[in-house]
Amino acid sequence: GKRTFSMIKPDAFGAGNTGNILKMIEEAGFGIVAAKVLHMSEDMAKTFYSVHEGRAFYEPLCHFMSSGPIMALILEKENAVTDFRELIGKTNPEEAAEGTVRSLYATSTRENAVHGSDSDENAELEASFFFNKFERV
Ligand code: ATP
Repeated sequence: GKRTFSMIKPDAFGAGNTGNILKMIEEAGFGIVAAKVLHMSEDMAKTFYSVHEGRAFYEPLCHFMSSGPIMALILEKENAVTDFRELIGKTNPEEAAEGTVRSLYATSTRENAVHGSDSDENAELEASFFFNKFERV
């Protein structure tokens, strides 16, 4: 796969870490295919994360993800999904390897600075959720 979908989450966006994170992404060899800043409604966040519906973290996650603006990104690189998840590190910042985006900018397992798709299929679905077909070329 050549593409992944990412978000700079409200914690990192609000703290002014967007520029630093984009620099890490570009220095790791990813191309930026599409980018937009938007403030999700709680309904939009619930739809995006509906795969997690019923889990204990679902409601607070959707509340957090709609608490401020995010930056949605389509990124391009060979092995984009795998390489991006390596760049961001583990979900829990205490477990994230040194130098990863989450080790540097996440403050908790919930407020963990960035999202990265977990498969090529989900990357395509998630990109389509935020960007129309003309924005995805
Ligand atoms: P991504 O965040 O990129 O979707 P992930 O594999 O790191 O991938 P998931 O397990 O898919 O994370 O969970 C989605 C998000 O839900 C996490 O990034 C985090 O913000 C939140 N989350 C997951 N597990 C927990 C938890 N135990 N407590 C609080 N928040 C959680």
